[in-house]
Amino acid sequence: MTHKCKSGNHAWLFKEDAEKCCNGFNRVLVIDDLRACDRVVSERLPGGVSYGYAWVQVTG
Ligand SMILES: [Zn+2]
Repeated sequence: MTHKCKSGNHAWLFKEDAEKCCNGFNRVLVIDDLRACDRVVSERLPGGVSYGYAWVQVTG
């Protein structure tokens, strides 16, 4: 079960992600700052650095 974003071009596992995709937000990679992530990846980067992804509102 996936959710399509506003444009219909992308599918997301979570409804809250689908609502932001193509709808004024960009998905960005966040490295070594888990509190800034809304989704943390369970795997680690080389060196044990944790990372995840966050939605950032498009400005302008
Ligand atoms: Zn999209």
